[in-house]
Amino acid sequence: MPRFRSILDTMPAYKPGKAVVSPDGRSHKLSSNESPYDPLPSVVEAIAEGARQVHRYPDPAAVELTEAIAERFGVPFEHIALGAGSVTVAQQLFETVGEPGAEVVYAWRSFEAYPLLADLAGVTSVQVPLKGEDHDLDAMAEAINERTRMVFVCNPNNPTGTSIRTRELVSFLDRVPDDVLVVLDEAYREYVRDEDVPDGLTLYRDRPNVCVLRTFSKAYGLAGLRVGYVVGHEPVAAAVRKTIIPFAVNHLAQIAAIASLRAEDELLERVDAVVKERTRVREALISQGWTVPPTEANFVWLRLGDRTLDFAGTCGLEGVAVRPFAGEGARVSIGSPEANDAFLTAAAAFRAG
Ligand SMILES: *Cc1c(COP(=O)(O)O)cnc(C)c1O
Repeated sequence: MPRFRSILDTMPAYKPGKAVVSPDGRSHKLSSNESPYDPLPSVVEAIAEGARQVHRYPDPAAVELTEAIAERFGVPFEHIALGAGSVTVAQQLFETVGEPGAEVVYAWRSFEAYPLLADLAGVTSVQVPLKGEDHDLDAMAEAINERTRMVFVCNPNNPTGTSIRTRELVSFLDRVPDDVLVVLDEAYREYVRDEDVPDGLTLYRDRPNVCVLRTFSKAYGLAGLRVGYVVGHEPVAAAVRKTIIPFAVNHLAQIAAIASLRAEDELLERVDAVVKERTRVREALISQGWTVPPTEANFVWLRLGDRTLDFAGTCGLEGVAVRPFAGEGARVSIGSPEANDAFLTAAAAFRAG
């Protein structure tokens, strides 16, 4: 028997969102926070054109895409590092700090990938429980010690949808020692409408230890192609670049991301439509009697405790796949109006039952 790393025996497995089919054949996947829209024709065309070049390796430095991101967000080219989805960039960030004894602080519950990536990188996870549904930034600041190398802040938080406001986040950042890297995971930034939720790209500029993680998977609708990036000062971006496996961001992903930035106006209109649906869904849930934390993301969170798996079962009868966290609650993505209606029907049925 080959001998494997002992961490593999205890590591949590990543559970991807599943699809379900109702008894009458309907299926609405609200379990992975994907865009409910088909890709834009201009993006599909760019990908089809790009297919003609796939006998070549992709540009390892993704120069054209990096330039497009730099221009779009007004950040220096050297401040950007790309990866195959922001989960991979997060993994690269763990690789930049991961050595025996290192600790990484993050809220819990938060994004499922953090504990996994910490285990893989051989760093110790320090999970700071949410206060209600929110980050407890005071407790997180107190959890930082001389072994802490990195802090992840997921804003808005996955899966609760809650957000940290500017004043709280700035005073937290002021408390973090300069040699601890803070990663602001902003996978849902485009869905934020509360003006008091800060844009990390304005916060990182005068803070060399702060970086911002973004993705093309959610608002830009490219989950299937895997491309994300981090924006941070040059030493941070350079360290992340060193950890990438050569050619990780494939040619079609690069091309599709460039095309998506060109078509951003159209994509952001879709985001507006999702935000409107988010308001509709949350208000309908509240009028059904649910408690739903305010959400700035493309999903809602229901704290169901022991009833979580039953609830997921009821949603399944309507063909709605949600993301259950057994014993805690369910995260439900905002989908098409039809999918959202199916979810609301299930939610009402659950309360009645
Ligand atoms: C979806 C998500 C990501 C993005 O994942 P990709 O690898 O870019 O698809 C990153 N962080 C959080 C918190 C997410 O929910």
